[in-house]
Amino acid sequence: MSVSFVDLFPDQGRPDPPRSHLLRRLRVLRISVTDLCNFRCRYCMPPEGVAKIRHGELPGLEELGDLAAWLTAHTNIEKIKLTGGEPLLRPGLGHLVASLTSLAAVREVSLTTNGSLLPQMAWSLRAAGLARVNISLDSLDEERFAEVTRGGRLKNTLAGIEAARQADLQPIKLNSVLRRSTWQREVPDLLDYAAENGLEIRFIELMRTGTERTWCESEFVSMGEVRSELGLEIQAPAVDELAAAPARRTSVNWHGCNVVVGWIAPRSHPFCGRCERLRMDARGHLRRCLMDPQLLDLPELMRRIGPSAAWERTQSYLAGKTPPRKMDSALAMNRIGG
Ligand code: SAM
Ligand code: SF4
Repeated sequence: MSVSFVDLFPDQGRPDPPRSHLLRRLRVLRISVTDLCNFRCRYCMPPEGVAKIRHGELPGLEELGDLAAWLTAHTNIEKIKLTGGEPLLRPGLGHLVASLTSLAAVREVSLTTNGSLLPQMAWSLRAAGLARVNISLDSLDEERFAEVTRGGRLKNTLAGIEAARQADLQPIKLNSVLRRSTWQREVPDLLDYAAENGLEIRFIELMRTGTERTWCESEFVSMGEVRSELGLEIQAPAVDELAAAPARRTSVNWHGCNVVVGWIAPRSHPFCGRCERLRMDARGHLRRCLMDPQLLDLPELMRRIGPSAAWERTQSYLAGKTPPRKMDSALAMNRIGG
């Protein structure tokens, strides 16, 4: 039976879980390992790229790994996602994956990538213990792909998807950001591709971030509009999918094929009240929310006051994690780790 968007988000409008449960609720740590990227996606990076902080000036991956280990020992974090910038650009990534997968509390280490470097790296990351990948794919048209990524090459990302499949980094999930000017062409193409290749795809509402906020505003289109204009038949998600995960996983009947589609709707259906994520950026700064400019400089705290006092400070920082008033950030996503 097909369901409506209201059925997909039954928790909208319900009271958020008590704030006192927040620390227990944190399950996912997203670690950005670099601000740098070989693409310049319009919604993520300024066209000129970012001020070059060389990898040598950042905390080493070993230090980021130690901070992650320390966090998992104090919280219920059980999943780690590596992101960036483009995480595959950071030398030594395989060692970090291996050290994170060896942590007792960690059930899964995965990666979000533009896929372009996976043909060279998929096998070694798999051997290091990487479980699976999310690969960003906004268009299957070469020109539109190059336009939105400002120079990315579609064929490299498609080769990356194939490499991930061969290295068994499964389930592969495609991430696709919706844009008003192109979604009518992109969404059907992407659903065809996902159906033909047996891949899960997640459609993401565009958030206002970084330097292109006016563009982000004019290009915003809501999930509900996409779904109703395409007349998509959506089957209800499994009950356990209704928890805190931002993507509502559904099955969509697309020309007789069932495609698993995740809907990430931070603007039309905010999920922040149930957020279970914590972020650490490439400088080792803790970020309690994508949209919150306040951060906690963990490497500096560790050096200055030591781990036990640093944990006190971390707890009070985390206690201030509240849903943002608006999905709006002056920082570019590559900087925070999207
Ligand atoms: N380079 C990797 C990639 O592209 O997958 C990892 C980093 S990227 C910042 C992580 C995810 O954030 C991507 O799926 C990207 O599409 C998404 N993203 C970046 N800026 C966004 C925005 N303004 N609104 C919605 N999603 C965004
Ligand atoms: Fe790079 Fe990913 Fe940002 Fe695109 S979305 S510029 S691939 S970090």
